[in-house]
Amino acid sequence: MSLIANLKEIRNSLPEEVTLVAVSKTKPVDDILALHQAGQLDFGENRVQELVKKQEILPDKIRWHLIGHLQKNKVKYIAGFVYMIHSVDSTALLKEINKQAEKHNRRINCLLQIRIADEDTKFGMEKEEAQEILNHCKTEYPFTNICGLMGMATFTDNQEQLRKEFRTLKLYFDYFKTYYSGMKILSMGMSGDYPIAVEEGSNLVRIGSLIFGTRT
Ligand SMILES: *Cc1c(COP(=O)(O)O)cnc(C)c1O
Repeated sequence: MSLIANLKEIRNSLPEEVTLVAVSKTKPVDDILALHQAGQLDFGENRVQELVKKQEILPDKIRWHLIGHLQKNKVKYIAGFVYMIHSVDSTALLKEINKQAEKHNRRINCLLQIRIADEDTKFGMEKEEAQEILNHCKTEYPFTNICGLMGMATFTDNQEQLRKEFRTLKLYFDYFKTYYSGMKILSMGMSGDYPIAVEEGSNLVRIGSLIFGTRT
């Protein structure tokens, strides 16, 4: 099937209110352009250098999402254009994003990445750190717009475990919403687990291989 057919099939399988981010890491700019011309606005990358290169070449209308672990010293390269950073996994990183955003006189959309997987390899903060950030973010990080949470489930076929992890994140999301009105986006679900993530309340999925084919 063609890329565009893949995209449409996934789009059609999602409720209207769920945002689809096409994860284009390692994939060529021609593929991204084809999907963009077919109407896709949101693309996700996990490496700063690759993101910067693609952004320079591709149309300005594309909304670029940084979804992978971000080192503090690299924030400056994307602060001028990035649409949303999903992988804010520490208070120190958020501080740096705020500082670099101020230089560009813009507010950067940020999601707090929460660790929900039972794997050491997955980045993310604990709920308590997120809570602490949300209590002070309007005054301490005025050049950021913290608009939700992101989580990655364990890499497993165990549906019940996936469901449990997504459900945990949705509970945090609902709880934060009760006192922080900016809590809008719940980024969870990838190619292998997005139907469960959507059932459990995700409103943004990050899908790569089901659109572009497997990465080598
Ligand atoms: C690569 C990646 C995805 C997409 O993975 P697929 O399994 O190809 O859909 C989603 N989220 C993050 C953080 C990723 O790094």
